Amino acid sequence: MNETMSIFNELESEVRSYCRSFPAVFTKAKGWKMWDEDGTEYIDFFAGAGALNYGHNDEKMKRALIDYIADDGITHSLDMATKPKAAFLKKLNEVILKPRKLNYKVMFPGPTGTNTVESALKLARKVTGRTEIISFTNGFHGMTIGSLSVTGNASKRKGAGIPLTNVVTMPYDKFGDEEVDTLRYLEQFLHDNGSGVDIPAAVILETVQGEGGINAARMEWLQQLERICKKYDILMIIDDVQAGIGRTGTFFSFEEAGITPDIVCLSKSIGGYGLPLALTLFKPELDIWAPGEHNGTFRGNNHAFITATAALSYWEDPSFEQAIKDKSKKIHAFLTKLVDSYPEMDGCVKGRGFMAGIGSKVDGLAGKVAAEAFKRGLIMETAGPEDEVFKLFPPLTISDEDLEKGFAIIEESVRAVLG
Ligand code: PMP
Repeated sequence: MNETMSIFNELESEVRSYCRSFPAVFTKAKGWKMWDEDGTEYIDFFAGAGALNYGHNDEKMKRALIDYIADDGITHSLDMATKPKAAFLKKLNEVILKPRKLNYKVMFPGPTGTNTVESALKLARKVTGRTEIISFTNGFHGMTIGSLSVTGNASKRKGAGIPLTNVVTMPYDKFGDEEVDTLRYLEQFLHDNGSGVDIPAAVILETVQGEGGINAARMEWLQQLERICKKYDILMIIDDVQAGIGRTGTFFSFEEAGITPDIVCLSKSIGGYGLPLALTLFKPELDIWAPGEHNGTFRGNNHAFITATAALSYWEDPSFEQAIKDKSKKIHAFLTKLVDSYPEMDGCVKGRGFMAGIGSKVDGLAGKVAAEAFKRGLIMETAGPEDEVFKLFPPLTISDEDLEKGFAIIEESVRAVLG
């Protein structure tokens, strides 16, 4: 073991995991490539767990940040008025919200994904005066007690004690049996109010579950859920921390379904450069916070506002969105062919857009494929309650050539695992 690795082994908690899955000391990264200290090159199909949708060290964002720092621009300002923050809000409104006819107020709840989820749950309770939250099987929303409580994965909650007791986990779309109409049960459950639960404050869900196994809900399912929420006056919270910012082919993952959530959680790639930033968007009529009622020290990271504003420029050019869609087709065509060519994998293609993977019923196969891929210079993560899915999550900016190189490595790795 080299010296750097032995420092981690001696000093860092056993809870760390990625230095085990990817046993190398990384020194440089550009676009969709990373290099370790020996100069070995890797193609990145991991993208910082979805925080690097625009790739590593994007030139435009880097330049904007360097210029700002060189000019002694303010770094930390809580929520004092600053120019980078104003520029970000303006750009978000003009480039993203207005063209999509979305009218949301924005709040900055703290630096990370779990902060936006916590704020969304809290706001929904305050607005409705109710406490129950409905979450969904295999959903993932974060690691703090509130967000963990709505995370529909018992193994992630194990050891944290009993979660908030007023969370009810319902079956997500296609849960267990494709034929089961999970929303019919939800509606019955809400209708038969005497059955034990009060009408909840909100439902919280991802339109494509990332950590839960790249499970994509159908558009009709999302539309039905919105209808039920409206009927019972329940707020719909879409957690777009992972599926948002272009991952599914559109800026917000819910655009294709044509639904308008009451509250939207964003983080990961919204900062653009891998800098921590989180946003909670909500309909203006929900803006009933009193000043100071919800805050967090790092709610005003101006460096992240600078890179986030530069990142939104990508969306000014419609060809960016088109390129994501075109490359998504290639990803899904490759995965379909792979599943067909290797029936021993007992696999199925999962996901939507650039949020894709293969779920395999063969015990341990996904992890083995990811490990073989790493040996061949491809970084890839697994997902799902049993880590049964290998997940293709490259930066959206990846070139066709390296996308295909990545495909070739995956196929070789599958072959190596199947022997
Ligand atoms: N929501 C979703 C959908 C996520 O995927 C994640 C992180 N994987 C979170 C919330 C939590 O984000 P963070 O780790 O930044 O707190």
